[in-house]
Amino acid sequence: MLNIPSQAFPAPSSQQRVASGGRSKVPLKQGRSLMDWIRLTKSGKDLTGLKGRLIEVTEEELKKHNTKDDCWICIRGFVYNVSPYMEYHPGGEDELMKAAGSDGTDLFDQVHRWVNYESMLKECLVGRMAVKPAVPKDYHEEKKVLNGMLPKSQVPDALAKEGPVSPSYDWFQTDSLVTIVIYTKQKDVNLDSVIVDHQYDSFRAETIIKDYSYLIHIVLSRSIYAIANELSHAIQEDFSVRVVANVGKIEIVLKKKENTSWECLGHPLENHNSLIPKKDTGLYYRKCQLISKEDATHDTKLFCLMLPPSTHLQVPIGQHVYLKLTITGTEIVKPYTPVSDSLLSEFKEPVIPNNKYIYFLIKIYPAGLFTPELDHLQIGDFVSISNPEGNFKIAQFQELEDLFLLAAGTGFTPMVKILNYALTNISSLRKVKLMFFNKTEDDIIWRSQLEKLAFKDKRFDVEFVLSQPTSEWNGKKGCISPGLLSEFLKRSLDNSKVLICICGPAAFTEQGMRMLHDLNFSKDEIHAFTAS
Ligand code: FAD
Ligand code: NAD
Repeated sequence: MLNIPSQAFPAPSSQQRVASGGRSKVPLKQGRSLMDWIRLTKSGKDLTGLKGRLIEVTEEELKKHNTKDDCWICIRGFVYNVSPYMEYHPGGEDELMKAAGSDGTDLFDQVHRWVNYESMLKECLVGRMAVKPAVPKDYHEEKKVLNGMLPKSQVPDALAKEGPVSPSYDWFQTDSLVTIVIYTKQKDVNLDSVIVDHQYDSFRAETIIKDYSYLIHIVLSRSIYAIANELSHAIQEDFSVRVVANVGKIEIVLKKKENTSWECLGHPLENHNSLIPKKDTGLYYRKCQLISKEDATHDTKLFCLMLPPSTHLQVPIGQHVYLKLTITGTEIVKPYTPVSDSLLSEFKEPVIPNNKYIYFLIKIYPAGLFTPELDHLQIGDFVSISNPEGNFKIAQFQELEDLFLLAAGTGFTPMVKILNYALTNISSLRKVKLMFFNKTEDDIIWRSQLEKLAFKDKRFDVEFVLSQPTSEWNGKKGCISPGLLSEFLKRSLDNSKVLICICGPAAFTEQGMRMLHDLNFSKDEIHAFTAS
């Protein structure tokens, strides 16, 4: 038998052997290549031991983490737990240990400046080094006028102990721009996480962190009668929002109306620079214009509303908003779940500017309070839309294999974005099945789109169940029942990861939940969309 020596690892030509300055590299164990490292970072494993939380690290704390099994290193103000990376480090463990528990920026720059450590080590990020607080000359002055000194945010003591670490903010300017930077100290932020509004002279940015909101809430310019200096704070209507997800940073770039230097950002309003439970923030509204209204069935319409240019708002999948109209002198508010404009991407019209339109499928009840009023709106009229609410979490899709959707009537609305998202983004998905309960064939929303989608994507199936069918109906009949469910909810594999979403009239959802429990589905496998 030939005895072929195993290839030296890393291979002689591998980038892992190429050290700047001709430094030699240590042989890495099998299964410790850069590709293996990347695989590990994408596996979802908690590499910091902090479960995705970012913390502020003091010098004292950093010093404590100085062993191979617990090694933190600071590079350019960001602290990484490099212990999981030790065996993957082409320069060897001893080289890394030189910077253990300390600031390794200089060492890093000498050895491999070119390495994109931010991306390679992003899953090892522990947080930022704590900024030593700058003591304002006059504390009261600092409280009144926001001059970008990273004021300590106002977090009630009790909350600070149980809630997430409070974000902080800073700002800077050029001749034409003002940038507000929010350091969320969390990794899982995205463009859905921040809602920004500039209405009249008030500026409000709400960052959602789990069940809490961090608010920037200020008056940029007081009013037309304000002193000359403050008038310089006028900004243009539109602004941009960027998120640097791996460091949990949000940047809001405002355009000045005049190229003058601002001495301060503005004057604080209620709850400014505070982290408060989301339920305590109240509903915040902005006026949106009705752009179009199309029939989806005989009584259900697709409404398109446009956000004002001075708002950044993206409704997360599975969440609803409140629409507000003044009806005979009284403000009436009802919840609605935004949908995509279509289930089929090729039907989508180009939308410019992006994310400015919100779509709703709304059933008009002739004897209802709100929907007839909504139906009477003319194109160009305004409706107020609140911030999003709801407890559906995108993490429920993680490694999902079978997705079952049980919808009745307009209970179909949360399923629209879920369907679009799951079929495009969840690579583990084997099967998506929708059981859609309606009274009659005419009541089925987007029936032809659903059938086309089922034809186009073999993972997707739809079944219609009618409670008041005509005699010609050959499909399933009746209401939700254990028999229908047990036949429908077949896993693709014996132990496949399953999620069942259910939404419809309250009685439908309650009965369905009871049946699902009787069929031995666990709480984690069911998400019910309800009013709360
Ligand atoms: P209502 O005045 O509430 O009346 C509704 C119907 O009930 C009418 O037929 C009315 O005649 C009848 N009715 C009212 N009061 C009584 C009574 N006392 N006795 C007997 N009958 C009565 N709907 C959608 O169309 N699309 C959505 O995306 C959507 N999303 C929702 C999201 C959530 C989280 C929730 C909780 C609900 C959602 N709804 C949605 C339902 C929506 O909020 C409203 O309930 C619906 O539009 C009816 O509003 P209305 O004021 O027009 O009717
Ligand atoms: P609908 O009256 O047309 O009924 C549709 C189907 O629901 C029926 O064919 C039947 O199969 C089932 N159904 C109705 N009443 C039932 C009952 N008492 N018991 C068992 N099954 C029943 O439905 P609709 O007028 O379109 O109403 C949709 C409902 O969904 C509304 O109550 C709305 O508030 C709710 N909804 C909730 C959310 C949410 O919570 N996120 C979102 C959208 C809609």
